[in-house]
Amino acid sequence: MCETGEVTVGPPVPADAVEDDHPRDACGVFGVYAPGAPVAHLTYDGLLMLQHRGQESAGMAVSDGDTITIVKDMGLVTNVFDDRTLAPLKGHLAIGHTRYSTTGSSTWRNAQPVYREPGESGFALGHNGNLTNTEALAREAGMLPGTVSSDSDLVAELIGAAFPADEDSHSDGRDLERALVEVLPRLRGAFSFVLMDTAHVIGVRDPNGFRPLCLGKTDTGWVLASETPALDVIGAHFVREIDPGEMIVIDATGWRSERPFPAERIDPKLCLFEFIYIARPDSNLYGKEVHGARKRMGELLAEQAPVEADMVMGVPQSGVPAAEGYAERSGIPYGQGLVKNAYAHRTFIAPSQELRSQGVRRKLNPLKRNVAGKRLVVVDDSIVRGTTQRAIARLLREAGATEVHVRITSPPYKWPCFYGVDTGTRSELLAANMSVSEMQDYLGVDSLAFLGLESLERAVGAPGAGFCNACLTGNYPTEVPVRFTKGMLESDGADPGPDAYVDDPAGTERG
Ligand code: SF4
Repeated sequence: MCETGEVTVGPPVPADAVEDDHPRDACGVFGVYAPGAPVAHLTYDGLLMLQHRGQESAGMAVSDGDTITIVKDMGLVTNVFDDRTLAPLKGHLAIGHTRYSTTGSSTWRNAQPVYREPGESGFALGHNGNLTNTEALAREAGMLPGTVSSDSDLVAELIGAAFPADEDSHSDGRDLERALVEVLPRLRGAFSFVLMDTAHVIGVRDPNGFRPLCLGKTDTGWVLASETPALDVIGAHFVREIDPGEMIVIDATGWRSERPFPAERIDPKLCLFEFIYIARPDSNLYGKEVHGARKRMGELLAEQAPVEADMVMGVPQSGVPAAEGYAERSGIPYGQGLVKNAYAHRTFIAPSQELRSQGVRRKLNPLKRNVAGKRLVVVDDSIVRGTTQRAIARLLREAGATEVHVRITSPPYKWPCFYGVDTGTRSELLAANMSVSEMQDYLGVDSLAFLGLESLERAVGAPGAGFCNACLTGNYPTEVPVRFTKGMLESDGADPGPDAYVDDPAGTERG
């Protein structure tokens, strides 16, 4: 949909696309300032490499220096954009967004970039993360309920309100930058933003740096992206990660760095699940390639939770590098046990357990010859509701596996995330409501073991780097608002406490 021009609507998303029960991804953001380059096409390519971070909607804003045109719609990047929609998007600066909704409903209204036009000036915003003080900010700003539809919408509203009146506008065209400096310190929670007006592309990372954001260089300009593969695909060179609490402003003069947050709020806490599951394996975070970190997780898991078996297999795709590591370290042959249907896109969350189970069948099919008669080690990245692993165990047994031993490359996921990864309430988290042996019975597997937190951080291999691990430990790096604690933190079962499974070999259960 063009917010400043004509309306374009992409084809409908398949209604039977079903989400699995891994921690569901955040969002992907991209920005480019490159005179002479086809910025809409570069943004399209960048968004394709960030598609795994959000499959509900996609959009981009493009400017030629005079106007901003926004095209966005529900669906995958390839649903929303084609040659026909990209051809008229001419300009030299652009931002893009792929969305998975963690606040606000999954509707076109919440597709991004968000656009506002305070006075004569227009700006667009894309957001990855979740604010934790949305209600307080809306209240402070005197907004009536329903004025904004998501935390990203609220931020755009606040920035718009911070623009100077037309007669006070500065002639240097830096009103967006000034409005950001005023608004950003009031925001709490997780936010990696890309923004643009008709002359600047801006990237911002929250003071904890929960979500990644990096800077790259092209032949004629500069690029911002959630993950480094979005730089690789357009031939951009990685320059560096944006620091927690840093704002990068790109314009015709190059880029400059600003620090709009008070120094005492800077406390790096990159989401550990970026390494475990969310980021692409070819991404670099904290200077480490994610694939290598996942492989080391498997190696350490083999040391921590050995088992006699005939074949090690990974649950595609994020479990595969760790399975290779487990196989190498244990000496048990690696093999493929499941084939993934690449076209069963993660677009809608199935509303019932039954539909989720069907979703697993659509996505994964066992290789019967490879698994029949074998004792299997099945390596996966996490257990949220347990639906996926339960269905996989049943599929593998039906295909003839004699034993199924599940190994997980993270500690039990017991606490909800408030920083942009959707897992539902505590009562939905299997590990918050069952002991490891109860989970083993529920999943119908012969043994179940989790990688300890210390080993996990060792596998990442970035000593001294700060991580958020709140969903594994209950230690939230920022204040969690009271409204979230109602329901979100409730649990139906006995809870052994936040430190229960941390590097505890007794957490390994054998059948
Ligand atoms: S709570 Fe978990 S998923 Fe959320 S940011 Fe922290 S580590 Fe990541």
